Amino acid sequence: MSGKPRDCRARVVAVRALAPDILEADLRVEDPVALEFDAGQWISVRLGPKTVRAYSIASAPRSGSVITLCADVVPGGVGSQWFRGLEPGSPVEFKGPLGGFVFTRADPRRPFFVAEEIGIVPIRAILADLYETGFGREAALVSWARDPGWLVYHGELNSLARRYPGFAYHPVVERPADGWAGETGSLIEAVERHAPPSEGHVGYVAGGEKTIHAVRDLLVGRGMERKAVKWEKFW
Ligand SMILES: Cc1cc2nc3c(=O)[nH]c(=O)nc-3n(C[C@H](O)[C@H](O)[C@H](O)COP(=O)(O)OP(=O)(O)OC[C@H]3O[C@@H](n4cnc5c(N)ncnc54)[C@H](O)[C@@H]3O)c2cc1C
Repeated sequence: MSGKPRDCRARVVAVRALAPDILEADLRVEDPVALEFDAGQWISVRLGPKTVRAYSIASAPRSGSVITLCADVVPGGVGSQWFRGLEPGSPVEFKGPLGGFVFTRADPRRPFFVAEEIGIVPIRAILADLYETGFGREAALVSWARDPGWLVYHGELNSLARRYPGFAYHPVVERPADGWAGETGSLIEAVERHAPPSEGHVGYVAGGEKTIHAVRDLLVGRGMERKAVKWEKFW
C-alpha cells in the first residue's frame, strides 16, 4: 500500500544505459529506510531550491529499499542533465510517492495499457508487480516507439508475455530497423488495431499530451467511459 508523500533522501547505487539516451538509476532509499508506494506512482526529485522534476518509479513495490528510475535524456533540460550526471554515491532528495496512475486489483475490468516511448516506465512497474504477484488475469499493452531502439523494456516485456499467456504484448515501431519483423505504423493505428471492445475494460495511457487525447478519444469512441481511461502525462 502506498504511504503518504514525504520528503525522502536516497543515494544512487547503480546507473545503466539501456540505450544511448535512455538511462536507468537505482536509488537506495536512506530516509526513510524504504519507500512504500504503489506500482505506477512517481517521485518529485528536488534539483534546486525551486526546481523539481517528476520521475515514475520503474521498479515494483516489492523492493522499497532500492527503487529504479528510468529517463529519456533527450529533452536536454535540467532534469535530463541531472540524470546524465548521476553516478554511484550521488545523493538524491525527493518527495514521494505521488500520483494515482495505479491499478487496483479489486477492479474486475481488464486493463488495456498504451505507452508512448518512455511512458512505458509506470506501466512496466504495474505489469511487473501484477504478474509477479499472481495476477493471472488478462491484460494487453501497446508499446509504441519511433524505432526499435526506443522500445524500452522490450526484451523483458516479451519474456513476460511468453511466461504469462494472459498478457498480450504488442510492440509497434514507426520506423523499422534491420531485423524488425514486428508491427509498424503510428501509435494511433496500433491502438485502433488492438483496442478492446468497451465492455469491462479500463485504459491506461502514458506519454505525451497529444497521444493521451487521441487515445482517449478513440477508446471513448469505442464506448469506453471517459473516466475509465487513466492517464499519466509526461510532456
Ligand atoms: C508524473 C510524471 C512522471 C514522469 N516520469 C518520467 C519518467 O519516468 N521518465 C522520464 O524520462 N520522464 C518522466 N517525466 C518527464 C520528466 O519529469 C521531465 O519532464 C523530463 O525528464 C524532461 O525534463 P528536462 O528538465 O530535461 O526538460 P525540460 O526543460 O523540462 O523540457 C523540455 C521540453 O521537452 C518536453 N519533454 C519532456 N519530456 C519529453 C519526452 N520524453 N519526449 C519529448 N518531449 C519531452 C517538455 O514538455 C518540454 O517542452 C515524467 C513527468 C511527469 C509529469
